[in-house]
Amino acid sequence: MVQVEPLLAFKDNYIWYVSCNKNKVAAVVDPGDANTVLARLNQNQHDLEAILVTHHHWDHTDGILALKEHFPNAVVYGPANSPYEHIDVRLREGDSVELPYLSLNVIETPGHTLDHVCYVANDMLFCGDTLFHGGCGRLFEGTATQMWQSLQKLARLPDHTKVFCTHEYTLANLEFALKAEPDNPLLIEAQKAALNRRAKHQPTLPTDIKTQKGINPFLRAQLTQLKDHIPVEYQTEKNQPEAIFLALRLWKNHA
Ligand SMILES: [Zn+2]
Repeated sequence: MVQVEPLLAFKDNYIWYVSCNKNKVAAVVDPGDANTVLARLNQNQHDLEAILVTHHHWDHTDGILALKEHFPNAVVYGPANSPYEHIDVRLREGDSVELPYLSLNVIETPGHTLDHVCYVANDMLFCGDTLFHGGCGRLFEGTATQMWQSLQKLARLPDHTKVFCTHEYTLANLEFALKAEPDNPLLIEAQKAALNRRAKHQPTLPTDIKTQKGINPFLRAQLTQLKDHIPVEYQTEKNQPEAIFLALRLWKNHA
């Protein structure tokens, strides 16, 4: 039986702690900070066997060397083309990571960075900074077309797939999403639910693919009505999803 829990790091990062209590082992996704992971491993008496990296940013990788000092047998998995140096097994689209209790498939999702990958296991998606609840990562290295295509890959996963993002950006994302789609009833409902959870200091994650297809403007840029509320300075004459996606992304960057 696989358990997944968020470990909060920095202000709003989640390090996902994926464990199997029967085998007393754990894997972590994007450990930007080692201390919170070491404390949980110690508390559970788990052995760390795998570290999954989605992309090279420091807040996803800075804890890795300290974790390796304590758990030298832990294998670091990451993107084939990552500039991050301490990856043991470099992965491409279609590769899989085989843990004794879990098999994860690799999807390449360039856009936020060029080296970004996501990991899919059964009904779980670990998507780093590609997809957020109500939003998506900024375009630091890739193009809008790359990011749109990456997000479309995630949108094609089964509806019930749980989405484990790395950041608790949900409230700000939903506030922006409501500017783009003020009358979307699913969005209004999602904002209520998220406000409720944050009021109790609970994570708004995981979300799921079905919810995101219904509310996330960055997965919905194929709908030309999303252009209606985009301010004139970010507006586009084109109707292709990539163009609407880019207009939304630029608007969000300045919102
Ligand atoms: Zn990042």
